[in-house]
Amino acid sequence: MNRPLYIAGHSSYTILEKSKLKNVPFWFHYSNNSLSSYEFPYDIDEYDCIIAYGGGSVIDYAKYVAGCKKLYLEVHPTILSTDAMFTEVSIVRCPEVVYLKTKAPDKVVLDYDLLKGVDWRLHVGAGDVLSIITALRSWRKFPTYEEYIAKEALEIVDKLKRPDDRAGIDTLFNCLKEEVSLCKIVGTSQIEEGLEHEFAYCFEKYTIKKVLHCQLVVLGMLCAAKVLNMSDKEIEDIKNRFCKLGLVWDSKEIGLNLPEYFKLMVGECKMKPGEWK
Ligand SMILES: [Zn+2]
Repeated sequence: MNRPLYIAGHSSYTILEKSKLKNVPFWFHYSNNSLSSYEFPYDIDEYDCIIAYGGGSVIDYAKYVAGCKKLYLEVHPTILSTDAMFTEVSIVRCPEVVYLKTKAPDKVVLDYDLLKGVDWRLHVGAGDVLSIITALRSWRKFPTYEEYIAKEALEIVDKLKRPDDRAGIDTLFNCLKEEVSLCKIVGTSQIEEGLEHEFAYCFEKYTIKKVLHCQLVVLGMLCAAKVLNMSDKEIEDIKNRFCKLGLVWDSKEIGLNLPEYFKLMVGECKMKPGEWK
């Protein structure tokens, strides 16, 4: 491996400029999370491996290129905001959510110097672990459900710590890795993807670049908890976990005007009253 293609995200530029990588020639991926931004670099065939720096959407893109071109892939997350660095699918919005089977990175490097360049409150990846709480409620109705896996998944949830220091970041990184490993064992992401993720994907179509995936998952958990008839005590427990981990569930605080987005969604619904069956 001596001809690496370096890929980074536009938003990682400032972090990389301040690091030892400032002179590295990067291919900057200007992601709008759509298939049109998934073009290969024009000189892709000159490289024999990929080293990617960025968040979830850059890593998803790097997994796509590496998967299609059968290249070794090393990723350095610059933010811990999803579990994308461990999964073997890339999620693209075109604009509906599409899962592309790509490849899991061959190596994931936890670079604390890079991660501390981001406000710790943006390391919201705990949402992809906490979502186990609501996702399990749906998964248990499916034939793939395994009681012992569900128990192990909830043990991962209990390990989470606030990612405001090195120990917290290490723990979040390991919890995300363990959660994805469990999904691989059972062959389904239903362990951590349920109604709360449906909610997030629904809104991501409209909030690309404005709100992080797991910020929506956190809001989605509270909606899912209500839909799933979880008790007040259980909902209180979820909120306590959010507080402990520094996660925000007030839509205004994360800059999301929910009524406006609802209007957009309803506006797209072509059915008229009376046409419902
Ligand atoms: Zn997720």
